[in-house]
Order: sequence, then C-alpha cells, then structure tokens
Amino acid sequence: MNNKIARFLADRQPATPCLVFDIDRVEANFRAIRDALPLAQIYYAVKANPAPQILDRLVKLDSRFDAAGIEEVEACLAAGAAPSAISFGNTIKKISAIRRAHEAGVDMFAFDSDEELAKLAEHAPGARVYCRILVENDGADWPLSRKFGTTVAHARALMLRAGELGLDPFGLSFHVGSQQTTTGSYEAAIAKVAMLFTDLRDAGVNLRMVNLGGGFPVRYRDEVPGIDAFANAIMGAMTEHFGNAMPDMLIEPGRSVVGDAGVVSAEVVLVSRKGDDPVRWVYLDIGRFGGLAETEGEAIKYRFTTPHDGGETGPVAIAGPTCDGADILYERSNYRLPLALASGDRVEVLATGAYVTTYASQRFNGFAPLAEHYI
Ligand SMILES: *Cc1c(COP(=O)(O)O)cnc(C)c1O
Repeated sequence: MNNKIARFLADRQPATPCLVFDIDRVEANFRAIRDALPLAQIYYAVKANPAPQILDRLVKLDSRFDAAGIEEVEACLAAGAAPSAISFGNTIKKISAIRRAHEAGVDMFAFDSDEELAKLAEHAPGARVYCRILVENDGADWPLSRKFGTTVAHARALMLRAGELGLDPFGLSFHVGSQQTTTGSYEAAIAKVAMLFTDLRDAGVNLRMVNLGGGFPVRYRDEVPGIDAFANAIMGAMTEHFGNAMPDMLIEPGRSVVGDAGVVSAEVVLVSRKGDDPVRWVYLDIGRFGGLAETEGEAIKYRFTTPHDGGETGPVAIAGPTCDGADILYERSNYRLPLALASGDRVEVLATGAYVTTYASQRFNGFAPLAEHYI
C-alpha cells in the first residue's frame, strides 16, 4: 500500500467498506506504459474504472479512450476528450448507442459480425471500423472467452464487405484476455493478425491499424512480468511481422492503468470455526457482491494486509457478509491470515482499483454500494 493511501486511511478512518484511490498513481502508470510502448496510442479501457477524476487526469495526459457503452462515451466527452480520441470498442452495441456516438463525432467502431457491420453502415455511415479476431486466452487469469471476436477467414470476408458498405476498413483487433501473464500470447496474436493484414492487402484492402487490446497484468498475490517484458515481446513481434510497413498500433489497457492505484479498506465482521476444523472462516464487510466480483472461480487472487501481519498465521476461507452461498471469495486458494485476527479489525484488500467499484451491487441484503475516495 502506498504512503498516500496509508496516510489517508490513518488520518480519516473512513467508514468501511470503501475504496481509496490514488489518482497520481494513474498518471505514473500511464506514463510507464507510454514510455515502454512509445509507438502505441493508448486508449484507456474506461470500464476498468470510469470515475470522472480518473478520466480528467487521463485527458490531461492526452490519453485516448476505449468505451464499452454510450454512457462511457459520454463520460469521456464530459471529461473533455475529443470525439476523435474515443473508440467504441464493444462489438455488441445497441442501434441507439451507435447513432448517439456517431452524432457526437465518434468515428471508430469495433465489430465482429455481419449484423453489427450492417448496423454500423446504416447508423454510422463512413466510420472507421475494425474487426476483432478470436485469439487464444491461455495464460489469462480473467479470460474473455469465445464471446468476442471471429475467425480469420470470416474477418477477411467482413473487412471486404465493410468497404462495399461505404465504411472505412481501418484495422484489426484482438484481446488476449485480462490479467494475461504470458508475453507469448501477444506474439501469437500479432502473428495471426499480420497474416490477415497481408492477405487483405493482396485482395486490395489496405488496413492501417492493429489494436492489441488490453490484458497487461497487475501484481495481486503472485508476481507478474512488468510492462517492459510485454513491450519487448510486442515490439519484437510487430517488427518481425510488419517490418518497415508498421501500421498504427493501439493498446487498450484498463487493469494496468488503475488496478494498483486503489485499496479497499474493509472490516472483519466475524471469524468463526466449524467444529474443530482448523480452517477459520473470515467474513469481511465486502464480498463478491460488494465489488470483488473477479473472485468468481477464485480467478483474481487479491492480497490482504491486517493489523496483525508478522504474527503467526493459519489457514482461512474468506467470505463476504451477505446471506448468499455464492458470496465466498476464497475457499480453495490456500489463503492464510494471522491467528490474532478478530471481529472489528480493519483489513486492506490491495490493488483493487480496477473492476471493483462498478461491479458492486445495489443494496443486495441492504448493503450500500461501495464508497469511493479519490485522493
Ligand atoms: C476490457 C477491455 C479492455 C481492457 O482490458 P484489461 O485487461 O483491463 O487491460 C480492453 N479492450 C477491450 C475491448 C475490452 O473489452
């Protein structure tokens, strides 16, 4: 936990559960990504954390934005982003959302299907479009599954069709899965996209852009490679496959921009034991429904700090406070917490700046949505 957040928690003792978020850290992360990949245009994936304070700071840094819905498009515009700096990156968009974005001046849209392409041709005529390719998500702790993207052969047909429909066939995109811990996933995806680039050029379609998506990991319980390792792999693969004919390169980091900028402060509601089972159950005042949704399947393994760190530990299951059997954070991931931990202790859940606040449910069991402090 950084000093600024630690000081805020100590001085203010805010009611729990709450997220305390260091805006300066966003700037540091953004600059580190830009330094590592100076040739890439950075489109912050707004859905990771759409707080206006974050968008404001990123606008000041000349970031661009990847929006998943029309409300996110409008939040970026409200923060002062130019419409030309916004990509509507969701492949699943309502007609009304396409129209509103197009009217607002947004002119870059993702798609991965015939029907979405037809919608774009009708409701965002002339726009730049890019097709999302289905790529392997192996190595990702939060894979994006087969829900998005299409096959290379289908993408080829779609890009040819885009031109016929009066759209600008601008480029191709992929996403290797979120919290991606292997650099090879980007290399494999770039190789796949590069082949289609060449193939389409031979067919008379001159693409100009490759969108490498997001996926860069944050350090949770386990160490992960740093941004430089990913940048080296990406630049190596781009140079190998595109040589001097380097297209525009876009990246859409979400998690890696905001993840380690936030800390959830929570309270232990109860520590209990079931008979003589050595595993204690630790119930916090935040759980799966309070915002820690990425603990689904114990996929994202957060780190915890407690007032008793350094003392003797024992095995625990960690759960949320609701009367719902699914509201368990970790039961199988071999978590250990101090034996001295007791009701009323404050604990911190580290690196919770991404994909937490917006996942919090509304009043489930009467609990208020997660409070947020941007400092
Ligand atoms: C969610 C998403 C991202 C951000 O992914 P991270 O893993 O948070 O970096 C980028 N692009 C698209 C299209 C997304 O849906």
